[in-house]
Formats: sequence, structure tokens, C-alpha cells
Amino acid sequence: MTTLSMKDRILNLPPYCFGFLFGRPARSNSKRAQHKFIERLNASRQKMLLVILLTTSALMASGSALANEWFETLKGEATDQQLHQFLYEMPKGGDLHHHMSGSGFSEWWYELALAAEKDGYRYYTKVKLNNCRDYGGQSFKTTPYHLMFQTIVEAKWQALPECEQAEYLSLDALDEVQKQAWMNSIRLDKSYEGRDEFFETHWQRLGDLTANPYLRGELILKNFQAFSDEGLIYVEPQVTSLGYERPDGSSIDPYEVAAILRARLAEPDFKALGMTYRFQLAILRFLPGAEDHLAYAYKFVAENDPYVAVNMVGREDNDKGYPLRFLPTLRALRHEYGNVRLSIHAGEVDEPNFHVRDTLLLGADRIGHGLNLITDPDTMRLMRHGPYMVEINLVSNLLLEYYDDYKSHPFPEYLRIGIPVALSTDDRGMWDSTMTDEFFVAVREFNLSWDEIQQLSENSLKYAFLPEEEKSQLIETYRQRTARFEKRFKKSGISALKASNAPKRAFICNRYDICAP
Ligand SMILES: [Zn+2]
Repeated sequence: MTTLSMKDRILNLPPYCFGFLFGRPARSNSKRAQHKFIERLNASRQKMLLVILLTTSALMASGSALANEWFETLKGEATDQQLHQFLYEMPKGGDLHHHMSGSGFSEWWYELALAAEKDGYRYYTKVKLNNCRDYGGQSFKTTPYHLMFQTIVEAKWQALPECEQAEYLSLDALDEVQKQAWMNSIRLDKSYEGRDEFFETHWQRLGDLTANPYLRGELILKNFQAFSDEGLIYVEPQVTSLGYERPDGSSIDPYEVAAILRARLAEPDFKALGMTYRFQLAILRFLPGAEDHLAYAYKFVAENDPYVAVNMVGREDNDKGYPLRFLPTLRALRHEYGNVRLSIHAGEVDEPNFHVRDTLLLGADRIGHGLNLITDPDTMRLMRHGPYMVEINLVSNLLLEYYDDYKSHPFPEYLRIGIPVALSTDDRGMWDSTMTDEFFVAVREFNLSWDEIQQLSENSLKYAFLPEEEKSQLIETYRQRTARFEKRFKKSGISALKASNAPKRAFICNRYDICAP
């Protein structure tokens, strides 16, 4: 800062000051000599100015490198395992983009499903096929007959014909092989699994587990705990309140669901975490009735804490959910509601198109993914140093096959030309990864500086859907924690690591060989 203002002062000096810098001109009797002198003086001035500018820039560059030297040294000296642990212990800001049902790790789902019996929910899952149905039917429905590991509640299992009942086992009766297969069926564990496996089978398999509001409350707690362990202080998950059922299969009103979740969030174990949070309500954008769902979501969010925002999700390669479809609905809703924020998935697609531009027109303040923004130069210019943030999900983008590797990912371009960005985890339960892994990928693949790491974390608070005062407090907390953390490592380098306890899940183990012993 000081150097920059010095440069500014030099540039703003009035011309006579350069006379002072170069000494006073000699006296000349002829106009020609005077003219030559002025020419020489101007040339010298220009040269001197150039030297000053170059020196100033060099000073600025070396100044910022010097400020981060400890981190550059650490990056060079640390093993991948140590860098990963450093990033785990590092204070972080928030996660502004994750889906609650996609954020549950397989073992959490299994554990919570068994524990749900205390609330009257008992689950069955499909472990074999007995060819109970006629040829030709049920291949392409939301839950096709042949899809293994569909999990249903007991009442629905009882309603099945006997032949189909025999295809299911109660979850607590699975043997080790079946249990492992069940857990693998809701995460991308094979190299050939990707976008279709994720979009077309994971939620379909989770089935009735996603319709239990009590289980959802426990899932939120596990998520908050895991994020808190990773040093996050704010989360803004997408938590649905629609489609919940009682053990007998009858539906539960979304307002009742919100009340159940609020009651759970008020309990001491949540409070003890000290996590600040707000919820988003997501709607599926390509459904026939999506406009009505959007209108309902606005009303619901306006009337229910801790919901503050609406999101629109669903694979963008299904063009029935294109952004401008929702412009008339949103404009009508803005006649009535002034307190609902919008973050919308856009540009999570392979083809170049104007989805990000159109989504800004919809009124979104944040863009989820924004991958193909880079193909739209006008919107790129618009977003530089602008008020709209792109939520970056590095692990998600790779596993859902938008990139084969990180060489062509637009994240560093956005970050380094001043488009606001922050890292988030999207559906980390299904990637089997963590927020620490997102930072690890960013640092290792794009050589992030310490300043850039802090900028990402600060953005994840600055662009949160929170009142200004609350944001400022969180940013202050983040800065204080970071200052203490920095001090440790500036003093002792990588030996300041406390332990080796960072979760080393499948993604980071398979791709970067950072594995649990
Ligand atoms: Zn998402």
C-alpha cells in the first residue's frame, strides 16, 4: 500500500519538481539552445520517470513476494501429506455451495438410517432382482425397476408384491459385502462412474432416506461438525423442505419440516459448534411445474428462518431448465418479495452458451459453477471486479466430467483477472472428499499464494447472504484466527503442524496419493 501511494505521489508531481530532481538548468543565451535544453530535459524526465516506475513496480513485486515468503518456502518444502494437513488446520471462511443430501458421507447415511428406527422409520434396500415385472416396463422411470440399492421405508416395502419383497433386505440385515456395495452405490467410487451415475442414480437410491426430517436434522449436525473441524465458521447449505414423509408414507407439510429442523438446530450440540448458518431452498429447474415450485420457494423462504435464499438446480444439459424460462416468474415475484436472495447454478455445462449472462438477468447475486462463463467475453468483462461471485467446485467439476484434468479449468483465470470466486464442496459426500481437499487441489494445481488463499476465504464470507454487520464480525473472526495461524508457521515452518489428523478420504487418496496409513 505504502509503495503504491509513493508511486501515485511521484506521478502526480508537478513538472517543476523534476527540475528539482535533476538540478537547476544552466543559463542559456539563445532560444535555440533553450529549446534544445528543454528537449533534453523532457527526454531525461521521461527516462527518469521510467526508471522510477520500473523501480517502484519491482519494489512492489518483491514486497508482496517477501510478505509471503514463509508460505512459498513452506509450499516448496512440505510433502503433499504435510501441505494437506496444513490446509486442514488452516482457518477457513464459509462454504456457500453445497447440497445437504449430497454432502452426507455413505457411512453417515448408513449409521443414521439404522438410528432412525427410534423415530419409527425402518428401511429396506434392493439387493437382488427376481424378474418380478413384465418385459418392457419400468426401464426409464425416475426409479427404474432394475436399479439396485433403492432404499424404501418399511410401509412401502410391505405394499410390494411378495416376489418384489424378496428382492429387498432390511438395512440392518446386510452382510459386509452388501453393506459395502450399498455405501459405494451412493458415491462415485469407480473410474467409469461420473455425471450419469451421479444425476440418475444417487438420489434415486437414497430414496426415502431423504424424506425423513429427523434424519435430515442429524445429517445437518454431522455436516456442521465436519466443517467446524476443518476450520469453517459459516455454512449456507441447500436444504430442501419439500417431499418429506412420515413412516406410514403420508406427507409432512414443509412448514412442519422447517419447524422440526429449527427445533433440532436449537439444541445444545448444535449451539456448542458456534457455527453461523443460513439455508437456501433449491428447486429442480427442468420439471414441468418448476415455475410454481419457484413461486412456492419464494413464499416459503420469506416466511421461514433460517432460509434466506432460493437456488435452482438440475443438470443444465437438460435444456428444459434454461435460465430465461424463469424471467417472467421472477419479475412477478419481485412485485411481492424483497427479502429473498438468489444464487443459481449456471454454466455447469460443456457447450458454450449465455446461461451465466441470462442468470445475472434473473437477478442472481451468485453463480454456481460458472464453468462456461469463460466462453462469453462480454459477461467476463462485466464480472471483473464486480459484485457477482462465482462459486467454484473443483472436485465436483472433475468427477462430473466437465474436465479430464485441471489444465483447462477456468478458476485461475477468474481468480487472477478479478472475478470474485470462492471454493465450495457441492456434494462432497458423493465425491468422498472435504473442503481441505478443495484447497489442496487449488494450491497444488494452480500454485496459489497465501494472499490468494485468504482472498478465497474472505470472499466466502463477504458474499454470504447475511446482514452486513454479521458478515463484518465473521470476517474479523477469520482474520484474527488467520493471524494466529500465520504466526505459528512463520516462526516454525512446517514443523508447526499439530498432528496428522486430516481426513484422508477416497478422492484425495486416489488422485494425490494422500491416504490414511
Ligand atoms: Zn451444486
